[in-house]
Amino acid sequence: MSLSFELLKTDGLARRGRITTAHGAVETPAFMPVGTAGTVKAMTPQAVAETGTEIVLGNTFHLMLRPGAERLAKLGGLHTFMNWPGPILTDSGGFQVMSLAELRKLDPDGVTFRSPVDGTTHRLTPERSIEIQHLLDADITMSFDECTTWPVEEAAAAYSMRLSMKWAERGRRTFLERKGYGLFAIVQGSVFPRLREESAKLLVKMGFDGYAIGGLAVGEGKDLMFSTLDTTMPQLPVDKPRYLMGVGRPADIVSAVQRGVDMFDCVMPTRAGRTAQAFTRRGELNLRNARHRDDPRPIDEHCACPACRNHSRAYLHHLIRSEEILGAMLLTWHNVHYYQDIMRGLRGAIEAGSLGHWIAAFEAEQGRGDIPSL
Ligand SMILES: [Zn+2]
Repeated sequence: MSLSFELLKTDGLARRGRITTAHGAVETPAFMPVGTAGTVKAMTPQAVAETGTEIVLGNTFHLMLRPGAERLAKLGGLHTFMNWPGPILTDSGGFQVMSLAELRKLDPDGVTFRSPVDGTTHRLTPERSIEIQHLLDADITMSFDECTTWPVEEAAAAYSMRLSMKWAERGRRTFLERKGYGLFAIVQGSVFPRLREESAKLLVKMGFDGYAIGGLAVGEGKDLMFSTLDTTMPQLPVDKPRYLMGVGRPADIVSAVQRGVDMFDCVMPTRAGRTAQAFTRRGELNLRNARHRDDPRPIDEHCACPACRNHSRAYLHHLIRSEEILGAMLLTWHNVHYYQDIMRGLRGAIEAGSLGHWIAAFEAEQGRGDIPSL
C-alpha cells in the first residue's frame, strides 16, 4: 500500500533514494518546480520534462478557486488536465490561505476565507483539503496545517504547532490509502527545538508516508534555518522521504541535501526567469543588465538547455528589454534546467561517495562569479 521509498545510498547524512508513485518514480534528492495553477509558469509540460524534472507541485488553494476541484476531477484529474503524466505533489492550501491576512478567519476547526479571484466565501478544513487533493489525483498529498508566522513568540508557536498536529491527525483519518499514493505530514514549531521535537514525535507516532519540514525560509535567516534543520532531522525516520518546503537558492539546497533532505520545491527558478534573473554555475546574473547587450556568448557554455544551446546573451537581453514573452520562457527553462543539473550532480556525488568533493567544487565555481565582460 501507499508510496514506496528506497534508500539506495548514503554519504554522510546525505541520502540517495527513490520514491515510487502511481505515476512513476522520483529519484531523490529531487527538486519540484512549482506549477501553481496547473502550469509551471512559462513552460510547456514537455519542456519541464526535458529538464529532467520528474515531479511537479500543484497548489490546492489556486486550483480549488479556479477551475475548481470537482471540475478538475470530472476532467480526469490534474495529470490529465495539465498533461503531466508524471508524479504530482499538491500542497494543502494552508500556506496561501494563511497569507490572505484580512481576507481569512481562522478557528480551531479550519479557515474561512474570501476568494481573491471573485470575492466568494470558501472554507478549508483538514478534511476538505485532503478531499480536494484526492480530487486533483495528487500522488503526494500534504497535511493541512496552520503556518506559524514569523517572527513569533514561543507560546504562540506552540499553540499554532499543536493545532497543526490535531489537523494532521484529522487529515490522517480522512486520507484514503491507495497503492502509489501517499500522505506527508509537516513538522512545525518555528525555530524552537523543543517544539520541533514535540511536533516530529507526534507525527511519527501517527505514521505518515513522508515528513516535511514547514515554517522555514520565512525570514528567519540561514543560520536559524539550518540549526532548526539540524535539530529536526534526527527526529525523523530514516526510511521515509524528507521534504524541506519552499527552499530555495542553489546553495541552500546543497546544504540541506548535505543534512539529509530528499525533496525541495521553490518558486525561485521560475519566478526569477520571469524577472530576467539567471541562476548559473558561476552565480546569479541579470540579463537586463547593459553589459550583455553586445555579448554573443550563451548564459553558460556548459549548459545543455535550449536557451544556452541556441541563443546568445545579447538576444536574451534584447527579448527582455523588448518585453517579449520568449525571454521569460527561455530564462525559466534555463533556470529549471540548471536546478535539475544541481540535483543530478548531487545524486551522482552521493552515489559515488564524493559529496564533499562535489560541494567544494560547487562552492568554488559559485564563488568565481560570472565570466568577465567582453
Ligand atoms: Zn542554460
